[in-house]
Amino acid sequence: IPADGKTRIVVIGAGPGGYVTAIRAAQLGAAVSIVECGAIGGTCLNVGCIPTKALIHASSLYESVLRQTAAVGISVTGAAMDWAQAQQYKNSIVKRLVGGVEGLLKANGVKKYSGKGIITDAHTVQVGSEKITADAIILAVGSEPVQLRFPGADLPGVIDSTGALALRQIPKSLVIIGGGVIGIEFASMFAAVGTQCTIVEALPHILPPIDTEIVALIRADLERRGIRILTDAKVTMIDQDGTDLQVHMDYQGRQDMVRGETVIMAVGRRAMTAGMGLEELGIAMDRGKIVTDDHFQTNIPSIFAIGDCNGRLMLAHAASAQGIAAAEYILTGKSAYHAETVPSCIYLEPEAASVGLKEEELQAKGTAYVCGRFPLSGNGKALIENGGVGMIKILADATYGQILGVHMYGPRVTDLIAACALAIRLEATAEELTTTIWAHPTVGEAIGEAALDLFGHAIHW
Ligand code: FAD
Repeated sequence: IPADGKTRIVVIGAGPGGYVTAIRAAQLGAAVSIVECGAIGGTCLNVGCIPTKALIHASSLYESVLRQTAAVGISVTGAAMDWAQAQQYKNSIVKRLVGGVEGLLKANGVKKYSGKGIITDAHTVQVGSEKITADAIILAVGSEPVQLRFPGADLPGVIDSTGALALRQIPKSLVIIGGGVIGIEFASMFAAVGTQCTIVEALPHILPPIDTEIVALIRADLERRGIRILTDAKVTMIDQDGTDLQVHMDYQGRQDMVRGETVIMAVGRRAMTAGMGLEELGIAMDRGKIVTDDHFQTNIPSIFAIGDCNGRLMLAHAASAQGIAAAEYILTGKSAYHAETVPSCIYLEPEAASVGLKEEELQAKGTAYVCGRFPLSGNGKALIENGGVGMIKILADATYGQILGVHMYGPRVTDLIAACALAIRLEATAEELTTTIWAHPTVGEAIGEAALDLFGHAIHW
């Protein structure tokens, strides 16, 4: 502890994990430094959550104008998508948020260092020629896209998610390698503005972390919107044919090929831990991810790792929550991180969201559970907004009725999932959801109805 009595903390990485950690540690009275080698805001603000959602917002507005206005009595002629303007809109949102985070760090007295942070011993971080000593070091170094290595993977026109966000023109056709959340969001976004999209996924199904019943609904809707989905399809090589790229694959046991003007490789992300002294210091790693305990402490007691780099959950809000927990643990000895209440969202048209356990997980654990469902065709607000597409599914403990998981597909469910995360956090029961009064008309009413269905009493289905 230095003369001024403040605990010194260095955070490496200023994404949603690192900058939130730094602010929380400063609030708790620490002297905090943050080191960033790229842009403040990290992946999330600059090339992840925020820019994708800005472009998704623009593209789904355009699709709504084309497809949904006639039924409600609006006639639109000459609607056109100005992609350069959509990009400017996205960039302006990113700039504003990054500026906001810079202001917050300054207001909280966090000292900023620009450059790559390298750990030289358990209490020292080197940035260029400067050495920063600290009582605790928190690694929040995030992740980067995985590049598969097959012939043609480095051809021009084969891009990753960062390249896809910067495309200057809407491609006529796209092949997306990887049917995870990032790949599916890009397919939905570009399909909305007229791109012919094909998804190539090596697994037998898309969206591996999502409840299979919800995935079936999503897949059917994506296909109805003209997106081609090939599962059990392993890419073997890419080559060029004129202006198109040809993606060759082993598709369900036979050789096949799809063509696209552009190929987006969205096959996952890996922790960005190389070349910063972790191996030299003997920090325990598991397949590139930093191993931590429940307090996000590594095997070296003064070093913590939060967010994408510990590989637990690659989500921005999980990174922030882990950072707060680590800062509180270091500075107060207490912390709380409730992994079971971390929601996952997919920004499609309509949206998907889930929290807690999936049916497959309950089956694997041998938990006795009950399942309540409510199709949004029976919900007035959803019917008004999107023709009633979607479903809400609630899983509860068979004996006590405790809510164990909620899975949703429908309009704005990424906002609604917060109520369900709170229900799980408060160990609410199905009965408590049925006696909660949901405003009418809202999509939220379907949560109450799905809970009633657990007792076989749904009113509107
Ligand atoms: P990052 O945000 O990756 O930040 C790490 C920072 O550390 C980076 O700025 C990096 O430059 C810096 N850094 C790395 N090494 C060093 C070093 N040695 N020295 C100094 N600085 C260093 N998540 C969601 O929750 N919702 C979404 O909708 C969503 N959409 C996404 C869409 C896309 C296209 C992508 C790619 C990701 C998306 N994610 C989303 C995931 C989300 O962006 C990440 O989970 C989140 O950014 C992780 O935060 P982090 O702080 O751990 O790491």
